[in-house]
Amino acid sequence: MNHPIDIAQQLLAIEQLVGADWYLPRNRNPLSEPTPAPGARAAGAAAAMAAAPQRRPLAPPPPPEPVEIPAELSPEGKASALAALNNDEVSSCAKCVLCQTRTQTVFGEGDPNADLVFVGEAPGADEDEQGKPFVGKGGQLLTKMITAMGLSREEVFIVNTLKCRPPGNRDPKRDELEACWSILTRQLQIIRPKVIVTLGNPSTRSLLQTQAGITKLRGTWQTLPDHAPGLGGTKVMPTFHPSFVTRCYTAEVRGQAWSDLQMVMEELGLKTPTPKKE
Ligand code: SF4
Repeated sequence: MNHPIDIAQQLLAIEQLVGADWYLPRNRNPLSEPTPAPGARAAGAAAAMAAAPQRRPLAPPPPPEPVEIPAELSPEGKASALAALNNDEVSSCAKCVLCQTRTQTVFGEGDPNADLVFVGEAPGADEDEQGKPFVGKGGQLLTKMITAMGLSREEVFIVNTLKCRPPGNRDPKRDELEACWSILTRQLQIIRPKVIVTLGNPSTRSLLQTQAGITKLRGTWQTLPDHAPGLGGTKVMPTFHPSFVTRCYTAEVRGQAWSDLQMVMEELGLKTPTPKKE
């Protein structure tokens, strides 16, 4: 467990590195921040969640059809398997009604051999237009979060539970999640990450097959159920969706998100990056 002073010093160093203050209270020195009691922290997060626009709870999808994918794919084999999945199936997929309103599918992007995969909910307007995941306001924050971990977007894999934008960014429907589910599981089977970070309630509930909410699950290691061969037992860290953090931009929420990511860094043996000297 890191000492609070060590964490505060790390946060300051990261601010210098990424030029971002997503994890710090604006215009305030974290070293002078009073440390809330644990109960107060939980109450703060709960209040932030309650104040934010809430989405309806989603029932987890049923178990997908098991698909055998070789366990030992080379990095090149993973890249070509993902490309084949995208080109042969996803880009022209019409398995649910979202194919009628999308501009294009958003398969996901990053290192096919990544140790770390982020799983969000569904493309928004920016993603639908550009065909890339997490490129809107929430995506820009996710990029800063990844940078603060000492990584780049190219070194992780970023994906959504749905590959097509629900019109008006409405909640995904259960039949849409079920239709798209095998694509996500096959992506994960090909990449075989060491850690999956689920962003927000929908991806957390779908992947963990639970109705528990993100406020309860975030910051605690979870284990992926045996959705498909090779996936069972993968470590999962649920955390807030970056869009939620942008809406509830409090020191409490940012501190909790950073704490979750630090647990992931520790699991993957990542060190907090050192800022360059001026
Ligand atoms: S959301 Fe998934 S299942 Fe539905 S059309 Fe798009 S790729 Fe196919």
